[in-house]
Amino acid sequence: MTAYLIRNVSVVGGAPTDLLIRDGVVAETGAGLAAPDATVLDATGLVALPGLVDLHTHLREPGREDAETVESGSRAAALGGYTAVCAMANTSPVADTAGVVEQVWRLGREAGLVDVQPIGAVTVGLAGERLAELGAMADSAARVRIFSDDGHCVADPKLMRRALEYVKAFDGVIAQHAEEPRLTEGAQMHEGEVSTRLGLTGWPAVAEEAIIARDVLLAEHVGSRLHICHVSTAGSVEVLRHAKARGVKVTAEVTPHHLLLTDEKAASYDPVYKVNPPLRTAADVAALRAALAEGVIDIVATDHAPHAVEDKECEWAYARPGMLGLETALSIALDVLGPQWDLIAERMSRAPARIAGLDGHGLDPAPGVPANLTLVDPAARRVVEPAELASRSRNTPYARMTLPGRIVATFLRGEPTVLDGKAVK
Ligand SMILES: [Zn+2]
Repeated sequence: MTAYLIRNVSVVGGAPTDLLIRDGVVAETGAGLAAPDATVLDATGLVALPGLVDLHTHLREPGREDAETVESGSRAAALGGYTAVCAMANTSPVADTAGVVEQVWRLGREAGLVDVQPIGAVTVGLAGERLAELGAMADSAARVRIFSDDGHCVADPKLMRRALEYVKAFDGVIAQHAEEPRLTEGAQMHEGEVSTRLGLTGWPAVAEEAIIARDVLLAEHVGSRLHICHVSTAGSVEVLRHAKARGVKVTAEVTPHHLLLTDEKAASYDPVYKVNPPLRTAADVAALRAALAEGVIDIVATDHAPHAVEDKECEWAYARPGMLGLETALSIALDVLGPQWDLIAERMSRAPARIAGLDGHGLDPAPGVPANLTLVDPAARRVVEPAELASRSRNTPYARMTLPGRIVATFLRGEPTVLDGKAVK
């Protein structure tokens, strides 16, 4: 194993120091370290963060390898500064058995670019009718701890209660896609002024808020852990604030796109802006940003949702919802939060690693800690070129935008997955 001596790096925004990486861990830190056998990387001006952890990634394998594979999605993740991603269950077949989650986990190990932690489905086939084999997935080699029907809401309250009860035994968590389905039938975009102007059927904020309100009460009643996927409205923030004040074991995520883009984008009818939940209003964006800074929203998660060209470059009404996210998330966070490195490390690495229970991730670089880290150049600016992305899909809403920050290197257990901003393999 090669040793690496990273010179003059700011660890999570602190004063410049050296980091020696050896045998998969951070061996030493301090100014003026010497290690004749180590490869030296001059990191002057760079910031070291604990490797980013994404709690919400769609890798599309098995089933839609034309849109993404575990390997291509892992490469996109590493290039985005990630060392671990949680793979959503809405594959084909659905990840609702030990067999499928083990397959995804094994493909992740083979790619070896990030740790791929499969998420299991809550219900068989994501159909919302009966519980999947949660225990078998938890006991499998993939050691599933997060369960989600993401893409669909677990709408049946009795089923949601039973799922929360079931995972309590092994400290699992149910990650809910909060969307009351009866309130969003035929919805094309956020319900508001813009949808009225465009004559498109709206997806009202209350469809999200009603499910979150119900589920925090269920989680409180059961005493179990609940996670809310892609929170998108100001009202949801208020429900979460209330629940957290009561001590409910609820955590929540926001996506980069909901922190940056608004429903005005739908006026272009460019399906790249179609996403579920939809882009909301400027007031919602402001509330989400404040909630993230305050901690009412715990983490940034990408909801990286690659789609093949034929599913995205068509009429708005027929386009699949979703956007790429892994390769641009840190830049968006930097744009939205500014260089608040400790906050970025907390919301994009430490907290998601804690929620997912991922050992060895989400730890600031320090002696003895597994060397899962990323080096960021905060002064760099980059123009997003879809053709240059490692993802197999091209549905980024940031095409040709100039964004701050660039991932220079990523290390997974001491081995570089990215160097000089390029994937190593
Ligand atoms: Zn979702």
